[in-house]
Amino acid sequence: MNWDTIRFLKATYKEHYFRDSDRIEFPSKIEEREFGYMPFGGGMVRHLTFRSAGEAVAEIVRQAPSSVYCSNALYDSPSLPMEEKGWKGAELIFDIDASDISTPCKREHDVWFCHDCSSKGRLPRPQRCPNCAKANMEEIQNVCEVCLEAAKDHASRLIRLLTEDFSVQPSAITTYFSGNRGYHLHVQDSRFDPLGAVSRTEIADYVRGAGMLIPQGFVLSLRRGQRLEETAPLDNRGWLGRIAKFLSSAPSLPQPEAKEKKGDGIHAHINRAIESQVSHVDPSVTTDIHRVFRMPGTLHGSTGLLKMKVKSLDSFKPLSDPVVLGSTRIKVTVKYSPQFTLNGERLGPFKSESVSIPAYAAVYLLARGLAEVS
Ligand SMILES: [Zn+2]
Ligand SMILES: [Zn+2]
Repeated sequence: MNWDTIRFLKATYKEHYFRDSDRIEFPSKIEEREFGYMPFGGGMVRHLTFRSAGEAVAEIVRQAPSSVYCSNALYDSPSLPMEEKGWKGAELIFDIDASDISTPCKREHDVWFCHDCSSKGRLPRPQRCPNCAKANMEEIQNVCEVCLEAAKDHASRLIRLLTEDFSVQPSAITTYFSGNRGYHLHVQDSRFDPLGAVSRTEIADYVRGAGMLIPQGFVLSLRRGQRLEETAPLDNRGWLGRIAKFLSSAPSLPQPEAKEKKGDGIHAHINRAIESQVSHVDPSVTTDIHRVFRMPGTLHGSTGLLKMKVKSLDSFKPLSDPVVLGSTRIKVTVKYSPQFTLNGERLGPFKSESVSIPAYAAVYLLARGLAEVS
């Protein structure tokens, strides 16, 4: 990223925050939170505190950072070093990112790109560029409608798991688009606030269906062809009930006495029941009780899209609703970008060329290092 690009991004973000600071959403108890930010082209600044939303907004407009963060934890003294802050509890937060969900389109749109000769190809990245033999290559991950739809599906699954299995009130869950490739779910339920990292790992593992032990008796009775109602109560509020319900509605359960064949037996059906209901949350995010999270209503540092509240997952359009930057045409030199759609406009593909595109699309490429201001 060159200086002209950094200057342009900073000016664009500053203008947005100056004009549209009302969009920034502040959590309760501001004075007990740790704030942080990432300047364009610089390292992370943490351990900041503000007494009010107005004070924080003034600093955001002044700095115009690439990213703004705030802790989900409350502290006695948020500006002290971590071990002296006095941790008082933290809201439960989940992160669902399309890059953690395997979608078939990734093979098409995730590529390596050679900075020396502009060659590109499918992942995995070779050690050296097959065209120029240099090793100056970068992996470029992209996101498409299919990826974002998958992330949305996993957000819906998470809401189902939390409300049905953990009795969380739907009104206690706030869903945000992350501003990049996925969703953040914030849970305001005081039962979770005091939990430490170990308990949060258990919750993350539960929703991911990780390390699940299926009782042998359940499997045996299914194999003997016992009626599902007798093997596990269908109203069980955990994974056993979920699996039983899935199997009771599955059209092709293996016949009684059927030999367990690879991929076609009871275990395959159970795995399908689990795989279709798990939510691929990032466990490291849920577990970290000292983390600072992107603030709702601020711009993502790699896309220029807004982290924004999602009122209805079904009707939310992640490639147009979070577009808040202007559409003045900006001239940029693009190293490489596959075709992408933003705000209903299809752009690219671009390869080593100068183009004039709307500011929101220019930021989308500049902030990811795929283009420079020309
Ligand atoms: Zn090359
Ligand atoms: Zn995709």
